[in-house]
Amino acid sequence: MAQIVTIGEILVEIMATRIGQSFTEPGLFMGPYPSGAPAIFIDQAGRMGAGAAIAACVGDDEFATLNIERLRRSGVDTRFVRRVAGAATGSAFVTYRADGSRDFVFNIAHSAAGLLDATDLAPDLFAGCRFFHVMGSSLINPGLAQAARCGVELARAAGARISFDPNIRKELLKLPEVEATIRAILGQTDILLPSDADLEYLCPGQDADTAARSLLAAGRECLLLKRGALGSVYYDREQRIGTPAFLSEEVDPTGAGDCFGGTFVASLALGIPLPRALELANAAGALAVRKKGPMEGNATLAELEAFLATDPPRRQEVP
Ligand code: ATP
Ligand code: MG
Repeated sequence: MAQIVTIGEILVEIMATRIGQSFTEPGLFMGPYPSGAPAIFIDQAGRMGAGAAIAACVGDDEFATLNIERLRRSGVDTRFVRRVAGAATGSAFVTYRADGSRDFVFNIAHSAAGLLDATDLAPDLFAGCRFFHVMGSSLINPGLAQAARCGVELARAAGARISFDPNIRKELLKLPEVEATIRAILGQTDILLPSDADLEYLCPGQDADTAARSLLAAGRECLLLKRGALGSVYYDREQRIGTPAFLSEEVDPTGAGDCFGGTFVASLALGIPLPRALELANAAGALAVRKKGPMEGNATLAELEAFLATDPPRRQEVP
């Protein structure tokens, strides 16, 4: 029985080896690495020992094997991952710009990842579920959007809370229905895990505190804003807690937010008190960026505890 359930894309990621490298000319790329935002999230939740499961579709290829074996090693229940004969596992190519931003070429919607639909949500997926997590980056076609909406209903019926990371990607907003589904899931969200860019998309022109307050006014439990190298800010109706980031050499930022979210939700599932959960999530994000590969920097609870026990240096500014 999994306390934490997610759905969505399992991918391989293949990344540029040089900052400034472009997709418009040949260059060296590294990979395949196991990836996909919900996969990174659930891998981390599994490593935390919280009991985790994912429903997803993969191809009948070795990219699928790479991912499934990896998730199993992390303690994730992969019985709800469907291998689709004749389909290829999804992929994402990424390049890094000098300003820290990234460009992607996704093959998701027309890969096996795009074939997940509500019929993949077997009733026993939600037996014992306490948190159902949705990634905005998964809502790329009507089948996946329907699966997310259906998952929210089944999870609610099982008494679970809904966590949502909007994870807006400009490449995905061009797809039909994405915006409408993001708004629909937002309306059902208890625990919202946006980045600054997500807040700007959800509440254009508002500063972060104002946007967070207005998103909380909708009655949700809490909002945890991810601010990259600055750290994170937690909001609920009573309090605002800024947690400065740990100093970390950023080798590869991809997946830090998903790892951070997986740590936070798993900490709640494990009954870890809020101040410690925030420290653990920040520690997980700081460790995640130190390694190349979207989930290569994921860590167990014991590894995070050991990191925090060294009293690692952190930024002076509180976000
Ligand atoms: P993603 O690109 O995966 O969607 P995100 O925007 O959702 O990322 P980030 O804010 O980049 O998430 O990272 C999540 C958390 O990880 C941050 O709130 C912070 O605690 C930690 N973190 C990220 N980058 C760094 C860094 N360079 N140094 C230290 N900690 C970091
Ligand atoms: Mg993110």
